[in-house]
Amino acid sequence: MKNSILSTLLLVSLFFFTSSNNPKNNPRAKKLSQMSLNEVINFIYTDSNKYWQSIMYNNGLRYAPPHNFKYYNDRKGTHWKTTCGSTRNQIGNAFYCPSNHSIYYDYTLLQNVYNSANNSGDAAVAVILAHEFSHLAQRLYGIAHHKTKPHELQADCWAGAYFKSLEDRGILEQGDAITAANQLFGLGDWNIYNEQHHGIPAERYTAFANGFNYGFASCGY
Ligand SMILES: [Zn+2]
Repeated sequence: MKNSILSTLLLVSLFFFTSSNNPKNNPRAKKLSQMSLNEVINFIYTDSNKYWQSIMYNNGLRYAPPHNFKYYNDRKGTHWKTTCGSTRNQIGNAFYCPSNHSIYYDYTLLQNVYNSANNSGDAAVAVILAHEFSHLAQRLYGIAHHKTKPHELQADCWAGAYFKSLEDRGILEQGDAITAANQLFGLGDWNIYNEQHHGIPAERYTAFANGFNYGFASCGY
């Protein structure tokens, strides 16, 4: 029963307004799918900083890049003590730490995601990092974190708007937006009475699709 509701929602929201004929589309841009895992990570870092700097500038605000952007849980077992606790408590995760304005990501997680999805995990890695950059931007916008779910769904939606900008610049290939949305779908949870509930799978998918289709301004809560 649960599954049939889910797949119905998924079919309804599968639609993405792609813009392959967009004049801004640059056929010579290096696509995510042509990048190694480390290239995807470095690209999203540099590009997200530029993207948010420009969006915030246009809104009369000042952007501040993350103080740290660090991997943990790689093959050497690297971990960090952060002002949000040890990264040992964040295995299988990526997170934005507001108290030191930093982003940390589990390298093994990103490696597994990158290698999954029939080797089209590049967009899935990108959306995980884009979601964390959205949390960083939420903080800079002064959006209070009252309740987890709307905060998380807004970050998914902002990640969708960012992906649209990637598409407009010719960095995505066919199916990348759906891969990213499916990654968020897979991260959805059913702990709806838990304070940490991030949204059920279809809500996360739909939030991303809304941001992609209707832009940053459609992501309020
Ligand atoms: Zn989040």
